[in-house]
Amino acid sequence: MKLTREQMLAEMGITPVWRLREPAAAKPGMEMVAAEPETTADEVAATAKGHVFPETAPVAVDALKWPELLARISGCTACPLCTGRKQAVPGVGDLNPDWLFIGEGPGAEEDVKGEPFVGQAGKLLDNMLAALAIARGNKVYIANAVKCRPPGNRTPEPAEIATCAPYLKRQIALIQPRLIVLLGRAAAHALLGDVGSLASLRGQSFAYPAPAGSAYGIPVVVTYHPAYLLRTLPDKAKAWEDLCRARTLMRAAKTAAAESASQPATRPT
Ligand code: URA
Repeated sequence: MKLTREQMLAEMGITPVWRLREPAAAKPGMEMVAAEPETTADEVAATAKGHVFPETAPVAVDALKWPELLARISGCTACPLCTGRKQAVPGVGDLNPDWLFIGEGPGAEEDVKGEPFVGQAGKLLDNMLAALAIARGNKVYIANAVKCRPPGNRTPEPAEIATCAPYLKRQIALIQPRLIVLLGRAAAHALLGDVGSLASLRGQSFAYPAPAGSAYGIPVVVTYHPAYLLRTLPDKAKAWEDLCRARTLMRAAKTAAAESASQPATRPT
C-alpha cells in the first residue's frame, strides 16, 4: 500500500507535521521543488566579463553600525554575484534576536523581494519556526551565507562565501543572537569553514566566538537546508531532532543568562 506524505510522517512519529501553506500543484515526485531559475551562469559570466574580481575581495566592515552595514551590502561589488542580482538580500527580522537562522543565498523570489526565504523553502522554514513556537520577525533574524543570488540558484562557490563572510560576521557581532542555526552546507561553510559533510556536522557541538562584551560563545546547531528537506522528506525527522536539540540549548542559554544577571557583581578583594 502506498502511503501519503502525511501518513508516512505519522508512521515515522514526526509531530508536528510541517505543512506548506499552499501545497504546490505538481506532478507526483516533483512536488515542492524550487522555482525554475531565471538567470543562467553563462549570462552572469557574460555580464561580469571585463570586470576583474579578486578571488576574495577584502570586505572591511568591522567598525560599521547596522544602517551602514546594510548600505554596504546593498552596494557591494566584491564578487561576480553582484552582476546577476536585482538587489542584495541582507536578511530580515528582529535586531535583538534569540535565534539566528542562516541559509545559503537568495533564490529568484528572494532576489525580487529583497527578503530571504520567501519561496517554497521559506514556507517550510516558517513551519519549522512555528514548530519551535517562533514567528518570523519576533526574536528571530534570518540571513544567508551570501547576500546576492547565485545564477541559476546554484550553490555559492567557496570564494563567494568567503568574500561575503565578513558581512555575516558583522551582522552576528551587532545583533548577538543567543543561538545560531546553520541551514545546509553553505551556511556551515561560511561560519565553520570547510568542515566536511553536513551529515558529519549534525549533532556536533560548536560555539561561535564570544561577541565583544560577552563571556560566552554562541552555540551553533547545524541542520539540513529546507530546500533539501523538500526533496528528501525522510530527513525531516533528523531536522526535527536537530531543532529539538537547538531548543534545549536555547533554554539552557536563557537560564544561564538569567542566572548570571541575578548574581551580585563580584568585587576585587
Ligand atoms: N534558500 C536560502 O538559502 N536562502 C533564501 O533566502 C532562500 C532560499
